Amino acid sequence: MSKLRFRVVETAFKKKATAVETPAQRPGEYFAKYVFNREKMFKYLPGNVYAKLTDAMDNGAPLDRSIADEVAAGMKRWATELGVTHYTHWFQPLTEGTAEKHDAFVEHDGKGGMMEEFSGKLLVQQEPDASSFPNGGIRNTFEARGYSAWDPSSPVFVVDDTLCIPTVFIAYTGESLDYKAPLLKALSAVNKAAVDVCHYFNPEVKKVMAYLGWEQEYFLVDEGLYAARPDLLLTGRTLMGHEASKNQQLEDHYFGAIPTRVAAFMKDLEIQALELGIPVKTRHNEVAPNQFELAPIFEECNLAVDHNMLIMSLMRKVARSHGFRLLLHEKPFKGVNGSGKHNNWSLGTDTGILLMAPGKTAEDNLRFITFVVNTLMAVYHHNGLLKASIMSATNAHRLGANEAPPAIISSFLGKQLTQVLDHMEESANDDLISLAGKQGMKLDIPQIPELLIDNTDRNRTSPFAFTGNRFEFRAVGSEANCASAMIALNTAVAHQLTRFKKDVDALIEKGEPKISAIVEIIRQYIKECRPIRFDGNGYSDEWKAEAAKRGLDCETSCPLIFDNYLKPESIAMFEATGVMTRKELEARNEVKWEMYTKKIQIEARVLGDLAMNHIIPVATEYQSKLIDNVYKMKELFPAEKASRLSAENMKLIEEIAERTIFITEHVEAMVEARKVANKIESEREKAIAYHDTIAPMLEEIRYHIDKLELIVDNQMWTLPKYRELLFIR
Ligand code: ADP
Ligand code: MG
Repeated sequence: MSKLRFRVVETAFKKKATAVETPAQRPGEYFAKYVFNREKMFKYLPGNVYAKLTDAMDNGAPLDRSIADEVAAGMKRWATELGVTHYTHWFQPLTEGTAEKHDAFVEHDGKGGMMEEFSGKLLVQQEPDASSFPNGGIRNTFEARGYSAWDPSSPVFVVDDTLCIPTVFIAYTGESLDYKAPLLKALSAVNKAAVDVCHYFNPEVKKVMAYLGWEQEYFLVDEGLYAARPDLLLTGRTLMGHEASKNQQLEDHYFGAIPTRVAAFMKDLEIQALELGIPVKTRHNEVAPNQFELAPIFEECNLAVDHNMLIMSLMRKVARSHGFRLLLHEKPFKGVNGSGKHNNWSLGTDTGILLMAPGKTAEDNLRFITFVVNTLMAVYHHNGLLKASIMSATNAHRLGANEAPPAIISSFLGKQLTQVLDHMEESANDDLISLAGKQGMKLDIPQIPELLIDNTDRNRTSPFAFTGNRFEFRAVGSEANCASAMIALNTAVAHQLTRFKKDVDALIEKGEPKISAIVEIIRQYIKECRPIRFDGNGYSDEWKAEAAKRGLDCETSCPLIFDNYLKPESIAMFEATGVMTRKELEARNEVKWEMYTKKIQIEARVLGDLAMNHIIPVATEYQSKLIDNVYKMKELFPAEKASRLSAENMKLIEEIAERTIFITEHVEAMVEARKVANKIESEREKAIAYHDTIAPMLEEIRYHIDKLELIVDNQMWTLPKYRELLFIR
């Protein structure tokens, strides 16, 4: 019967780890082998060109077009030495992945032959035929074309035979059509606002960088088993499947020994990641069976985002050469943990100060508290928006499912930091500051123990937790582009820091000394943003009630959560910081709603197809066998005895009938509901209809399919089961 299933299970069991050769060189030697980094720029570019380019990279100065040709020539020389024949503008459209269109270096030489060329013009700007990328209507006019432009702050790199050039993707009318353009603007806004605030403490600071260290979770599934699951193949998650008798209850997978086939995959991946300049550092098993995690050393935010995008595609590729498929979906399996991507975020100065880390002196610590409290303020005032920034059709399965952060944004600070803030809130300025001779002010903020740096208590249920020298935004989905969360967070913090500066300056103008003005405003802020602080159990029902009382955004419907982008305060914030205009925000929301609808639509189609073509036929066939058996029993035994002996089978026959009727009826109803929803003009209303009426049907149908899986003869079941998908590696 289910030949394919048993064949793939058997093959999967026999697979051995693919050997991965250990490079002869040490990681330090092959690190960034395929990246045109400073070392290579220095080697391949003329001195003055090198100086101008690094200035553009460091200080965001626009790239001087006059050097573009020389930069391109140097890049090409380096790349051809690596055997490269093509180049591509590599960009991040709103579809989550990356996009690339490869062009060969070849040009006509005018003498009937070919030559290899790569001009500055081609490096700096391109016009990809990108009319089919989602743009929310911005580019629907005939002439509003889009172009991609090089972002020199992210170095070009080589993948196989192609030189990849990280670019922004924008409409000719200036609107961004990607993630990178607004991210760069958000980073520039937070740089400016944070430098201004730093100057209260450290006038020498010239630049503030946002840092990002992501932790990427993922599942690996044997590729044969994967191929036998059309739902995994087409939607990235299992739309059905009864829990295995054993899953993660023993917690024996977390940090356990890494299985050999997986270890080989990880080794291969790490070597290739390091060659691409991605500083991968940590690897381990995660909580669910066949779930793993990878984390690099944190980097400047824009680069870290690019590296995450790059590694997601690298992981997919490397997994295949080890006979696996990589699942980045936030919730591929029901009943076991889903995957997230913790975004560890902090700010740091060009002078080496980590602004989210406590320091040695009272003044250092006031700076530390200033940045922490302003971050809390930003998160408090834009908690709905931050939730919107991580929300998607796929991540919706994970949030609020008692395993991942709840669908309410709050911040965990830990005991020590909480005490410090409470103390500041309760004390008067005179208690906190005393005049200490000519040195000026002396601060009496209780000594912040050095311990705080890495010995913070942990709260796994918090979506935005302080972890010693950074905040960890845990609600981000495993499949998401980190840029979405980073745009919202950095913009909100930039906006808040600007308000802080204004508030403090106003007091200073009134004659208040600087330190005392800062302390005064901080104290007001601590009171104001108190509702965002929550150290308890984020999964509890009491918290849901309490959060609603505190006025935090408790919405759980994905399409409605997207509304947060268009709230007046969000538009005002994005416009004031120059990150996005109302028009861009509106267009991007159209894309979000449309994508939501499409995802659910595809799932509904796939489920309908599987239900009717895999599940019902198999269930009916098994039912016929049972019926046959009941008839034969009647022939063998006297009526009463036969009926007693067949009682169980009769029950099963009936149960199968009831469940298949339910499934058939609901699959039909789902088709009708889609027809109705598809007629809705507004993308928002359509997404709401899909969320409210179609998504719940998927669950109802699944419930009955999973029950049938328990009844039907295992030999007949065609789809690989959870125990096979999750425990074979
Ligand atoms: P855990 O699992 O305990 O949260 P990991 O070591 O898996 O920690 O990951 C922590 C991530 O946070 C790493 O990417 C690390 O580089 C990053 N990180 C550490 N310090 C900072 C910081 N100050 N700012 C941003 N990211 C940081
Ligand atoms: Mg973490």
